[in-house]
Amino acid sequence: DSEKLIEFLNHVIKARKCSEKVKVVKTGCFGFCEQGPIVKIEPDHVFYVKVVPKDARTIIDEHILQGNIVQRLLYKEPINNRKIEKQEDMPFYKKQMRLALRNCGLINPEEIYEYIKNDGYSALGKVITQMSQDTIIDIITKSGLRGRGGGGFPTGRKWEITKKQPGKTKFIICNADEGDPGAFMDRSILEGDPHSVIEAMAIGGYTIGANKGIVYIRAEYPMAISRLNTALFQARELGLLGQNILGTTFNFDIELKLGAGAFVCGEETALINSCEGKRGEPNYKPPYPAEEGYWAYPTCVNNVETLANIPLIILKGSSWFSSIGTEKSKGTKVFALAGKINNVGLVEVPMGTTLREIICDIGGGIQDGHLFKAVQTGGPSGGVITEKDLDTPIDYDNLLGVGSMMGSGGMIVLDDRDNMVNVAKFYLEFTMDESCGRCTPCRIGTKRMYELLVKITKRKASMADMDALKQLAYMVKNSSLCGLGQTAPNPVLSTMKYFWNEYMELIKDVD
Ligand code: SF4
Repeated sequence: DSEKLIEFLNHVIKARKCSEKVKVVKTGCFGFCEQGPIVKIEPDHVFYVKVVPKDARTIIDEHILQGNIVQRLLYKEPINNRKIEKQEDMPFYKKQMRLALRNCGLINPEEIYEYIKNDGYSALGKVITQMSQDTIIDIITKSGLRGRGGGGFPTGRKWEITKKQPGKTKFIICNADEGDPGAFMDRSILEGDPHSVIEAMAIGGYTIGANKGIVYIRAEYPMAISRLNTALFQARELGLLGQNILGTTFNFDIELKLGAGAFVCGEETALINSCEGKRGEPNYKPPYPAEEGYWAYPTCVNNVETLANIPLIILKGSSWFSSIGTEKSKGTKVFALAGKINNVGLVEVPMGTTLREIICDIGGGIQDGHLFKAVQTGGPSGGVITEKDLDTPIDYDNLLGVGSMMGSGGMIVLDDRDNMVNVAKFYLEFTMDESCGRCTPCRIGTKRMYELLVKITKRKASMADMDALKQLAYMVKNSSLCGLGQTAPNPVLSTMKYFWNEYMELIKDVD
């Protein structure tokens, strides 16, 4: 619909001969998926939602040529039916702070000059002409930025470890293998603002001493791949990648490697194996990739969202970034808000925002007047969080404290229509399918757990099966080789903890 809408808008502009007055700019995602396609009129800041191609004529005739706001295309707040003109006044955006998503929905991602106009590549210019590697590491370390892919490892520390390794050949890899069901943060950043990631990789390359970067991206993201390729071409044309960047002695370029969409390839060592053309299976650690990674050279692997923050931190400083968030989790986090929520979309909030604010204020509450039951964070590796913990300020440690985890930012809201045993079964089926099979506890353990869950949902299980499920869950958790297996039982264990009665409902007739 969006492509058609652009075509229709251009057609009407041509017919009305007003191309000097108005230009259609294709942007990345605005985040408010529920209300798309979206047309924003600048400089008026008027925000039109659910626009269809046949609205093109109305927008050009009424708004652009006559200066009248098209009331019927404005967002209507569900609670009091108030119509809202400006993006910043909409409850969905009010509590957000868009740092990693700063350019998404604002610039044309296929046009490098739009990125440059918004301070793009100034951070790269600043670091390679004015800063030592140690100064950059100090800034990133003091900013408190932690890996947004789920691990939460301090980014400055990772850069420092890689920089300290001996040898002249090093690599920086951008992990764009977003695999959580329901998560689409990285895809949106790459589709809406690919240059922010390219610029950050060049800064990282300069800092750790790497001349080559790799973006490992799943082949199911064709638009992100195409926009990355366009952005790489444009950056090379302007001397922002390649030999002697900006007239300095720094050489750096980036290559794309496409993954086949295996969840396990989000794990650093599996990702590196896949980059080398091997099976996407994790390795034992140590050695860590920072010491021995791509073709055994020191390799720094950073997630897309982590990288998107880097240019801003360089430009605005570590104290600015560390003033946002909680004591141990600085900055913002992007969440893919999905499930039984009114405002499905991509949201970016300061760390420390509560789940209740995300679900009720930004998300607009539960669909069709149903009751909130739980929210699953951390995708298939996380757990459910119930009503009693909704006021927990979100950060890495607090989410672990309530039995879930940050993960990469998937957030699925469940309501009173959802059966939690089925939810656990859904996630376990996913991890069972995605297990690479390298180690026995995960390969066999997740299968046996899944069979038990099927038995339970068919009302054929006994209390002995419940005990076996619990024992297996701890065995898989404690003895699997990588994070996939170690966290696969989490949805089962957390639903057992908070919704034991729903399991009991299904086995009560057997015993
Ligand atoms: Fe593979 Fe699972 Fe073992 Fe990880 S835990 S290495 S995904 S079998």
